[in-house]
Amino acid sequence: MMSNYTEIKKYCEDRMVTLVAISKTKTVAEILSVYEQGQKIFGENKVQELVSKFESPLLNKKDIEWHLVGHLQTNKVKFIAPFVSLIHGVDSFKLLEEINKQAEKNNRIINVLLQIYIAQEETKFGLSFEEATALLGNEKSADLKNICIKGLMGMATLTENESQIRKEFSSLKNFFTEFHELKFLSMGMSGDHKIAIEEGSNMVRIGSAIFGERNLV
Ligand SMILES: *Cc1c(COP(=O)(O)O)cnc(C)c1O
Repeated sequence: MMSNYTEIKKYCEDRMVTLVAISKTKTVAEILSVYEQGQKIFGENKVQELVSKFESPLLNKKDIEWHLVGHLQTNKVKFIAPFVSLIHGVDSFKLLEEINKQAEKNNRIINVLLQIYIAQEETKFGLSFEEATALLGNEKSADLKNICIKGLMGMATLTENESQIRKEFSSLKNFFTEFHELKFLSMGMSGDHKIAIEEGSNMVRIGSAIFGERNLV
């Protein structure tokens, strides 16, 4: 029998979609087991957890790309700046500036995605289309030489209503298409990645479908 991971990996590969395995709350041993099945990109949503997994001796030397997918506070950028490969949730100019500053200190260029607000929920972070347009067109953004805005990220409303989800993803895809310089459109999680891919996602963030349900802590 194929594992969940193998199945999801094949589903993404067949559609040329980048799979980010979201390993939050999962142990180093669990991550290692998925790594050994071929996964090289892992994502976490908390800075401290990301750092401790990156530093864990079992994972530290591996050819792993670490992504941060959750909300990032400016005062924590410095902890991940030495090694993070992609930051998915950037939603302010202030945060872009801080990432740029910390990237410069580490002699790196850090890749980021702008998080766009597409859900009908009030708790989600993100920029409106208008704010994102302004940020992308801003000369001050272009002056930040140590960051590279690689694409956009969005989360759909947590709902059973498939047409609602589809509409939200499709609106983000339409917006994304206006910016030819952007490469990644990060949308889709365990429950909605198939819809997201049908609507044009090329990067999905999948946790529980690979690792099993998370324990509530
Ligand atoms: C936890 C998380 C995911 C993965 O969620 P699953 O439903 O377990 O696939 C994706 N994106 C973000 C930002 C997350 O915090």
